[in-house]
Amino acid sequence: GAIRKEPDLLHHSYCRLLGTLPLCLWLYGSLYGIVLDAGSSRTTVYVYEWPAEKENNTGVVSQTFKCNVKGPGISSYESSPGALAKPLDDCLNKVKERIPVHLHKNTSVYLGATAGMRLLRYASPLGKQCLFHLLGDSQPFEFRGAQIITGPEEGVYGWITANYLMGNFLEVCWNEFQPVLKETMGALDLGGASTQISFIPEDPEEHFNSTLQVKLYGYNYNVYTHSYQCYGRDEAEKRLLALLLQKSNTSANVDNPCYPQNYNTALTMKYFFGSLCTQSLRPANYHPNQLVNFHGTGKPGLCQEMVSLLFNFTACRGREDCPFNGMHRPKAKGNFVAFSGFYYTMNALNLSGHFSLDDFNSSMWFFCSQSWAQLQFMLPKFEEIYARSYCFSANFIYYLLVHGYNFNAETWPQIHFQKEVSNNNYLLLGDEATRTVFILTQLTHLYNNLALW
Ligand code: AMP
Repeated sequence: GAIRKEPDLLHHSYCRLLGTLPLCLWLYGSLYGIVLDAGSSRTTVYVYEWPAEKENNTGVVSQTFKCNVKGPGISSYESSPGALAKPLDDCLNKVKERIPVHLHKNTSVYLGATAGMRLLRYASPLGKQCLFHLLGDSQPFEFRGAQIITGPEEGVYGWITANYLMGNFLEVCWNEFQPVLKETMGALDLGGASTQISFIPEDPEEHFNSTLQVKLYGYNYNVYTHSYQCYGRDEAEKRLLALLLQKSNTSANVDNPCYPQNYNTALTMKYFFGSLCTQSLRPANYHPNQLVNFHGTGKPGLCQEMVSLLFNFTACRGREDCPFNGMHRPKAKGNFVAFSGFYYTMNALNLSGHFSLDDFNSSMWFFCSQSWAQLQFMLPKFEEIYARSYCFSANFIYYLLVHGYNFNAETWPQIHFQKEVSNNNYLLLGDEATRTVFILTQLTHLYNNLALW
């Protein structure tokens, strides 16, 4: 692509002349920012570091530490926010050790929440006040605020992060960062509560309403983005369990063709009916604490059939606003990178990178036919709540990509399933940082020496 130099953005910087970030940090010292990435299924704390040198306006930010907060996502603490204090404190204490003591007071903490919190519509009390109290007394950092990212924002930030990390916006040339106009990749993100697709459509004009214009390093991009609420992996599975219960004759014992053969579990009705995505499916005799026994039968064909019902196309026929009315518009085009839930599932099936639709289907069939006992030997890391659901996730992904977005045998290999997007210069933001680019832009406003935009 064409390389165009932007004089404003790239004025002289000692750090760039030094060439390597570690050397620069050593000479000038660093500033730090902390981001709490509050996903629907868990919270991750990231520490970002950048050179304190005044003239660094290159956007050289690196993620230098990451800590997974023990336990579920913050939306699960609705009834007992206090219980979040201990696991969060444990992480932040580790963070404290990474940041020089004299900088603690000036280090900002941001919280970015996504679909899980949107579903709860609970952001302001927990996000702003409770968290402030939770963090306020025990931690020295400055809590700057909580933000719930909207669906389109989540989609577009995923797209920016992926392409930023792939070096599609900036290129290192003679130790300088130069804006560059390259072909970008689409981004497919499967979260717990929602799923996002973002890419540059063939004809951006046509999809005016759902296209966001973002300006990055002097270039404009028209990004089509859509976020499908309740089509995240966890919420979709709750919808499946609700549907299976609806279709079963007894409410005590329910067969689940997507769970592995001989897997049994008792779940409370609240577990799957307690969400906004399944509220309308609640039976008349809904008792939140009543247990339902799910029995895995490991039948891939039947599982696929049940999963197809989650995409209720018939109810949608002819309605433009309906998710997945059989034709996703605009047509997905070009290369895509698929991460988070997409990656975890493929990894469990022993697949990653590029592979054919046929390979995917045979791996899925094989995986879904394994008994619970066999699965324990197959998976490198065995965690019950993930292991029991991979067959469902694989079928869900198949349906979403093929019937929802209209990928086919020919275009499927254009999807690259990967855990993290990375490149080998030091412009790394690290893995799973989808939501954090958003918050980094706030850091940008705070510290004028960053120019991510
Ligand atoms: P997140 O990116 O945290 O919103 O997670 C996206 C989806 O992946 C959620 O449905 C999680 O339940 C699932 N997930 C998260 N971590 C793992 C893992 N280590 N293995 C399998 N699935 C996971």
